[in-house]
Amino acid sequence: MEVKENLIAIEQDIKKSLAKSSYGQTPTLIAVTKYVTIERAQEVVEAGVTHLGENRIEGFKDKRDNIDGVTMHFIGSMQTRKVKEVINHVDYLHSLDRMSLAQEIQKRAEKRIKCFIQVNVSGEDSKHGISVDEVQTFTQSLSEYDNIEVVGLMTMAPIDATDEEIRSYFKQLKQLQITINSLGLPHAPCTETSMGMSNDYKIAIEEGATFIRIGTKLVG
Ligand SMILES: *Cc1c(COP(=O)(O)O)cnc(C)c1O
Repeated sequence: MEVKENLIAIEQDIKKSLAKSSYGQTPTLIAVTKYVTIERAQEVVEAGVTHLGENRIEGFKDKRDNIDGVTMHFIGSMQTRKVKEVINHVDYLHSLDRMSLAQEIQKRAEKRIKCFIQVNVSGEDSKHGISVDEVQTFTQSLSEYDNIEVVGLMTMAPIDATDEEIRSYFKQLKQLQITINSLGLPHAPCTETSMGMSNDYKIAIEEGATFIRIGTKLVG
C-alpha cells in the first residue's frame, strides 16, 4: 500500500476516535520508520507527516542525517552509554525510565531535552518504565536537572492485552499525566500523553492520547 492511502485511512480513524473521546485534542502522529528505508521514510514526509520515530541509534541517525525538516522522536530504550552520541539531535525522548539516564542526559545535553517519562502501567516484568506508584516521586526528583523538561508520560500496552485491559492502562496513564500536570512543577509541565500504536491507537485517542506512534499500519 502507498503511504498516502494508509495515511488517509489513519486520519479517518483519528477523526472517528476523537468524536468518541471526551478529550478534544487532535493527536500528533509520529510515523515510526524503524522497519523501513530512508526512501520509504521520505515518502512519509512527502505525504505530510513531519514527525518521525526511531527506536535504535543507527536508524535514528540514518533518518536524521538524510531527511530534512522533520521532528525526530527517540522512542526506544536508551542505553546510558549512547546518550552522548544522539541526545543533542533528539527533539523528543519517549523513554526516560531511570535516574541514571536522567543524570547522563543532564551531563551531555547542550539544550533542554523534551522528555516523556516511560511508565510501566501494566506492571509487566519485561517492560521498561517507572511503576505507576513511583512516577510522581521520580518526576519531582528531576527538578534539579535543568536539561530535562518532562513534557508528558508515555506507555506501551503488553502485546497480549485485551482491548479492555489496554483501555484501562491508557486511562491510568492519562489520569497520572493530569495529576502530575496539576502539581505545577516548572520543570514538568506534563501536558502530553504518548500512547497508541498500530493495533491500539483508536483506543488511545479515545482515552486522550496527544501523541500516537504508528509504524506497521502506516509504512508496513
Ligand atoms: C515499534 C514501535 C511502535 C510502532 O509499532 P507498530 O505496531 O508498528 O505501529 C510504537 N512505539 C514504540 C515504542 C515502538 O517500539
